[in-house]
Amino acid sequence: MGPGINKRFAENKTEYGNAMAKVTVYGTGTNTELEQSSPIVTRRGAQKAKIQTRGMVRKVESRKPSAALLEAKKKAREKLNNSPKRSSGETITIRDIYQSMMDSIQTIRGATGIMYDDRMAEHRCLWDPNFPECPERYTRVVERCRELKLIDRCVQLSPREATVDEILTKHTQELYDLLKSTSQNEDEEQMEELCTKYDAIFIHPTTFQLSVLAVGSTIELIDNIVSNKVQNGMAIIRPPGHHALKSEYNGYCFFNNVAIAAQHALDNRGLNRILLVDWDIHHGQASQRMFYNDPRVLYFSIHRYDHGTFWPNLRESDFDWVGEGDGKGYNINVPLNKTGMTNADYLAIFQQILMPVAIEFQPELVIVSAGYDGTYGCPEVCLI
Ligand SMILES: [Zn+2]
Repeated sequence: MGPGINKRFAENKTEYGNAMAKVTVYGTGTNTELEQSSPIVTRRGAQKAKIQTRGMVRKVESRKPSAALLEAKKKAREKLNNSPKRSSGETITIRDIYQSMMDSIQTIRGATGIMYDDRMAEHRCLWDPNFPECPERYTRVVERCRELKLIDRCVQLSPREATVDEILTKHTQELYDLLKSTSQNEDEEQMEELCTKYDAIFIHPTTFQLSVLAVGSTIELIDNIVSNKVQNGMAIIRPPGHHALKSEYNGYCFFNNVAIAAQHALDNRGLNRILLVDWDIHHGQASQRMFYNDPRVLYFSIHRYDHGTFWPNLRESDFDWVGEGDGKGYNINVPLNKTGMTNADYLAIFQQILMPVAIEFQPELVIVSAGYDGTYGCPEVCLI
């Protein structure tokens, strides 16, 4: 409001949500009739004369609820009276979002499960020994866990193969059959030719068996956690899965381990809220797509984006892809548009975005797609 307006106050109507609220805006004019004609009265003089000073009047007025607040209260009352639950006499229970944290004080620390199988080091690219996705991605993690004596502290879980039906919950029959047909195929040239049809894929004679083993082991780990045999756990597996699309192998991935395991938990374990955190440096576009309409799985990814120039170079990896239909609001991308990110940056994302979301969502299970290519020293895509 400009300084030339010579009114004591003006009224503006402002839309706030669906309700129209009246907002009083004080003007800047000072030369009003009221002020000119008002006599100066001291507080003591006012008390004697049993009248109120302007200050006293304002104090009383400020205690009155504003027109906007009265209007909002009226709307809320109407909404509550019209709600079907209220009219049917049903009790509405609102759970305190911090209750799980309070309950966890009583939780006794349980065992951590670990799942790995040395056969997973057999999968490798026969025609390119320098292919970035290599057996060391499995062996170094297991070795490091051994060095730190972490494996001794965990409950060893037995890997298992996934069933066809389990894999078909997230992939097409054609995709499954094609990979199965490559099993034990030693024809290097034929395999190389097949892989040229896909982005960043190699197939080894063991790839099918190990892909099935990776999916089954992830499901088995989830089952052990959901049934409270272990409190949490880690599956060290290859080939990876978060780029494996419904009907296409992609980015070193054949079957989407985590997505299939999450679907298993929904379908067979009665879970309704799963938080899927993906901190691999690449966006897990396949995991995103597989639950894009599903509010039961909240997909949260932190990934290098570089304004769309970093692989997988997809517009859908940006922050404004938030889910659709019932799943709208249940897909959260945190794209990083510069390198040189530090622990503090990641902690800020965790504390300022992930944790508030997790507290609201109250997941029954948290699954982490824990790719290590965002860490310092990764020869492929070091962020530093
Ligand atoms: Zn990656």
